[in-house]
Amino acid sequence: AKAKGRNTFHFYSQELDAAANERLFIENELRQALREKQFVIYYQPQVDSRNQQVMGYEALLRWFHPTEGLIPPTKFIPIAEATGLIVELGEWVLQESCDFAVRLKEQGRENNISINLSARQFKDASLVTMLSKMIIKSGVSAKRLHLELTESMLMGNVEAAITQLHELKALGVSISIDDFGTGYSSLSYLKRFPVDILKIDRSFVRDIPEDTNDMEITAAIIAMAQKLNINVVAEGVETIEQVQFLQNNNCFVVQGYYFSAPIPEREFPSLFEKLNNI
Ligand code: C2E
Ligand code: CA
Ligand code: CA
Ligand code: CA
Repeated sequence: AKAKGRNTFHFYSQELDAAANERLFIENELRQALREKQFVIYYQPQVDSRNQQVMGYEALLRWFHPTEGLIPPTKFIPIAEATGLIVELGEWVLQESCDFAVRLKEQGRENNISINLSARQFKDASLVTMLSKMIIKSGVSAKRLHLELTESMLMGNVEAAITQLHELKALGVSISIDDFGTGYSSLSYLKRFPVDILKIDRSFVRDIPEDTNDMEITAAIIAMAQKLNINVVAEGVETIEQVQFLQNNNCFVVQGYYFSAPIPEREFPSLFEKLNNI
């Protein structure tokens, strides 16, 4: 038993080493990646399922590492957040998204761009000034920018969050609540936050139409949003059954593999062709 215990310990410690090494590796490489422009933004369309019209795009960060290949955001965002590098990386995402929005407008395809903000970015005292300058300099219409925040980011210091949201909204941008329903969803709080859009989390959409609980929760979120005059976007929509269920419950804007995965800008021509042929 003793020997086995030792082996088990050895096994766990090797696993921990591997995780710690990976973390250290990513931490070291992140700085260089920023300098060497190893990041690319992919865009995933949010489509009105009634007419296949693109209503906006979510900007999703991709890291193409020279030797490791594609590193998914779920691997590096938490580390960027912990090290504080997310502030610089997030500023780059905002800048790229503004420039993208301006390009779309020049192409006669003016549209909304949803941008994920991290907790650290949202709390950063210089966020509002930085964004304000960026909006002016890039020439983007502020109303085209939708900032995605999660419930947990609003729940720590509620008063500070409300103030920050009002300052952001004063710039003319919209506020989305991402992954809605997975956090601390207190309805009374929701009414106090100046929120424009709720994004129904993929975990509720995924098992439609098999899971009747999820269907009821989804329908309830949509009905509640309607009463509060908040728009809804459903995330992770993969099947026609899910599109139909959402339509029957008055949610028309959907994001997910059913219409398109996140894609680089160069693949837009084939996206538009595909949407035209649905
Ligand atoms: P998220 O904001 O909830 O983004 C949606 C995720 O769901 C994306 O994963 C997207 O590729 C994926 N997805 C979209 N449609 C479907 C579908 O139909 N089925 C399935 N299975 N998945 C779908 P991704 O791109 O890997 O991003 C993961 C998370 O990383 C994001 O979750 C977001 O929290 C974070 N993230 C990505 N880019 C940024 C960024 O620029 N800044 C910050 N702070 N976080 C980011
Ligand atoms: Ca998001
Ligand atoms: Ca989400
Ligand atoms: Ca999510």
